[in-house]
Amino acid sequence: MRSWSIPAGRIFGVEIRIHLTFLLLLAYVVLTEGAAGGAGAGRAVALVGIIFVSVVIHELAHALAALHSGRPAKSVILLPLGGVTLMDETAPQDRLANRELRIAAAGPLINLLIAFVAGAVVGAVIPSTGKENELLGEQRDRLVDRASSLAHERVERAKELVREDMRDIARP
Ligand SMILES: [Zn+2]
Repeated sequence: MRSWSIPAGRIFGVEIRIHLTFLLLLAYVVLTEGAAGGAGAGRAVALVGIIFVSVVIHELAHALAALHSGRPAKSVILLPLGGVTLMDETAPQDRLANRELRIAAAGPLINLLIAFVAGAVVGAVIPSTGKENELLGEQRDRLVDRASSLAHERVERAKELVREDMRDIARP
């Protein structure tokens, strides 16, 4: 897998690599969308960009959870269908099941958060119809308010965790 991926820097001490299938996906989507019309290519790049960012955030969640439980990830390989976080298997592995569970759970949990934030953004950006306002207006406004405050809370918590981890890394 390694030879099919190109290095793309480091985040939190974890080597990030992009698998070549990502470039294939980009080329494919640009070609097919571009054929459809002028704005297609831009939309295609945005789509691949969104997938890319989601996969990066997902894998970083695994990597951070691994770091947090004292078992740092070695590298992250980004694929269009998701990524692979490679662990340092030589690190001590006591209380293994518990750690594995937390490291594994971090990915899907961050995806829920991404979906939640994306839903809130879409809900806030897309103009609503008159009928929708009449039927759902108040309920929707309450939901959007709750979603944005919850998202804010989660982002603050994530920042806090990242700060903790950065302190752990800085410490010799
Ligand atoms: Zn995952």
